[in-house]
Amino acid sequence: MKSIQVNVPGGPENLQLADIPVPQAGPGQALVRIAASGVNFIDIYFRTGLYKADLPIALGSEAAGTVEAVGEGVSEVAPGDRVAYAMARGSYAEYAVVPAAQLVKIPAHVDFHTAAAAMLQGMTAHYLTQSTYPLKAGDTCLVHAAAGGAGGLIVQMAKNIGARVLGTVSTAEKARIAREAGADEVILYTEQEFDVEARRLTGGRGVDVVYDSVGKTTFEKSLNALRPRGTLALFGQSSGSVPPIDPAILAKGSLFLTRPGLPHYLLTREELLWRAGDVLSAVDAGRLRLRIDRIYPLADAASAHRDLESRKTAGKLLLAIG
Ligand code: NDP
Repeated sequence: MKSIQVNVPGGPENLQLADIPVPQAGPGQALVRIAASGVNFIDIYFRTGLYKADLPIALGSEAAGTVEAVGEGVSEVAPGDRVAYAMARGSYAEYAVVPAAQLVKIPAHVDFHTAAAAMLQGMTAHYLTQSTYPLKAGDTCLVHAAAGGAGGLIVQMAKNIGARVLGTVSTAEKARIAREAGADEVILYTEQEFDVEARRLTGGRGVDVVYDSVGKTTFEKSLNALRPRGTLALFGQSSGSVPPIDPAILAKGSLFLTRPGLPHYLLTREELLWRAGDVLSAVDAGRLRLRIDRIYPLADAASAHRDLESRKTAGKLLLAIG
């Protein structure tokens, strides 16, 4: 089967299309024939070596497809089931072996591309808005990269809850996309001081929570934008990692800082089924719109990485495989 692998961590040119044997499902595992794989920043972090893995690294952390075979003791899915998953590596391939407990069945009306696009960023937006800082109607949140993959879904979920949403973006075109997703106010953080704007737009109070996927270039101002006892959910680093900080920096508002990750919000099968079920049913019902920006062939995964890193994209990138 065809699979994208990394033998030496580095740039997009280090993504290699390999021909390797189809793997076999062991106990508790399922073999999935992949129809589409999501492309995510976590794949870039494994490619560059920021996140460590044994070589050769099988890339891709999200996909949708059909169960081809199951190993011993699997009760969650059966051959022929249409399934999707996130956070099991190796989805840039024609087949992947996945722990069966990580698979969810796709509703009948949801196609493979939509399901592959929904899982990782959708469940991330779900845990951030439902669990990390559970938003309530009337809260105000600040969402960075509000036209991005995760950002665009956080905006929609926050609006569905009844919160007020301030979004940041880098261009006028992305501002239009963020507004379309439902953002009440959009700040061009490449032109304006977003902390000053966020305070102005909240009558000086500050926002209840900042959902920050950008990291290095936004971190300090994200803290400045918070109300007393507000929460900074720093969940990514698309501009680079935040340098070490002195915890006393939080004293200016008795602020809460957390660095959450999806695996810690998918601790049980019940939690996975809750989050994935909410996301996929919201997509099915039209309450959550996925913006699929670009679709690439498997062999062109390097272009997907280049585009995602270059800040040009707005929404989801996919590899069409099967
Ligand atoms: P996005 O679609 O948000 O793409 C990244 C966006 O970040 C860009 O489009 C850009 O938006 C903004 N950005 C700001 N500065 C830069 C820069 N220097 N280089 C590139 N982009 C920049 O990506 P994702 O939604 O897939 O992921 C965003 C981040 O969230 C990643 O760090 C990812 O790892 C993390 N993440 C974390 C999860 C978790 O559970 N902790 C789960 C999912 C994602 P603009 O042009 O508007 O500034």
